[in-house]
Amino acid sequence: MRYDAWFRDADSGMGRWELDEIIYRSPTGGLLEVAHDMSALKQLSPAAWIRLWEGRYKRTQWPFSSGVWGKKEMVLPNIPDEDIVSLDEGGTNLFWAERFGRELGVADLWVKQCGVSHTGSFKDLGMTVLVSQVNHMIKSGKHQIMGVACASTGDTSAALAAYCAAAGITSVVLLPRGKISPAQLIQPIANNALTLALDTDFDGCMRLVQQLTEDKKLYLANSMNSLRIEGQKTISYEIVQQFDWEVPDWIFIPGGNLGNVSALYKGFEELIELGVTTRIPQIVCCQAEAANPLYLAYKNQWRDFKPVVAQETQASAIRIGDPVSRSKAIKALMKHGGKVEQASEQELADATARADRTGLFNCPHTGVALAALIKFVERGEIKASHRVVVISTAHGLKFGNTKADYHMGTLPGIVPRYANRPVELPAERTAVYDAVMRHMDKSMK
Ligand SMILES: *Cc1c(COP(=O)(O)O)cnc(C)c1O
Repeated sequence: MRYDAWFRDADSGMGRWELDEIIYRSPTGGLLEVAHDMSALKQLSPAAWIRLWEGRYKRTQWPFSSGVWGKKEMVLPNIPDEDIVSLDEGGTNLFWAERFGRELGVADLWVKQCGVSHTGSFKDLGMTVLVSQVNHMIKSGKHQIMGVACASTGDTSAALAAYCAAAGITSVVLLPRGKISPAQLIQPIANNALTLALDTDFDGCMRLVQQLTEDKKLYLANSMNSLRIEGQKTISYEIVQQFDWEVPDWIFIPGGNLGNVSALYKGFEELIELGVTTRIPQIVCCQAEAANPLYLAYKNQWRDFKPVVAQETQASAIRIGDPVSRSKAIKALMKHGGKVEQASEQELADATARADRTGLFNCPHTGVALAALIKFVERGEIKASHRVVVISTAHGLKFGNTKADYHMGTLPGIVPRYANRPVELPAERTAVYDAVMRHMDKSMK
């Protein structure tokens, strides 16, 4: 074996557990992280890594055509290729938001479309790694794993159900009843997961799934399981690759359970260690005001983190008051001087719709990040020459109901400044022609 990876304690960097052990926390109760034998990885020069990754990117050689598995040596170096469960995740488009950027005065604005993926969110990146590892453990016969379980605000369950269905593994999902979108609910149902809608919130589901998975027959798939972070961190590799190995100045990323912002930092730290890049971008973690415990801690100079009871928000996938990965996220944000911003329901709704008018089709979480970006621009913190990336976490089509409510003016408490309502008319030439002409006149003004 040329390369090696194992679990260690994420706080202390100590300890060693093999990746085929069923373990989610260190004996101290802290989170684990996947460590790699970096000295072995550094045997290859940065130029050689770049050549290898470029040769695989979006080609047809399975599994390396996947954006995640194209970086296999950095992810799970020793899993046999035939045990990998991939749905060709990653390699998502990096949208040059030219028109929206010009409106804001940020010409070099890009949206990383992580939602343009098999199940419509970035969760696919982590789930391919976790389900592949489970598949490998089941095949090796070391453990009696009967199924995989997660708590979810909608997108984790969709991803888990799809990857498990592709591999023929039983999946169990715990959802807060009535708090996820209809599209997100139908995804695990369609993929034949045992779908449990519970009378609680996400934080309640998260507590329950941790209790359930004390029985090792049921493997835990939430992002406190650090295998998922290994897939998600490839977002950093990919952004840099898509900019021809240059690091952008800013990244805005929505945060809920805070696994993804931790993953982003891990990716950038590794790229530096490999010598592929030399700096970490300014990262801004963006929360909905309705579920903002990280923002409150940041405003308090990181002195004191207190969980909150998350309130209702359009950004339902980040409606989390007690984020599991907070210690990892805070450690990285503190180390690199990262920032945290929040957005109100009005701000995120308008930012979503305003960017949609320039050709995007954003989910509300992306709207949170866009609203945060607008605040940074208005405060003059971003220079016109800066390159800015917004991480779009899910596909807007999953949130069609929320988007429709915005445009119809039926979102409670929201005055939709960018509403575009359908015009109902008799099917008659004059009426239609007049409506078109009225619209043209208005657009000319
Ligand atoms: C899961 C999710 C997030 C938040 O990611 P965390 O790792 O929980 O911070 C943001 N947006 C969408 C659409 C998600 O599904």
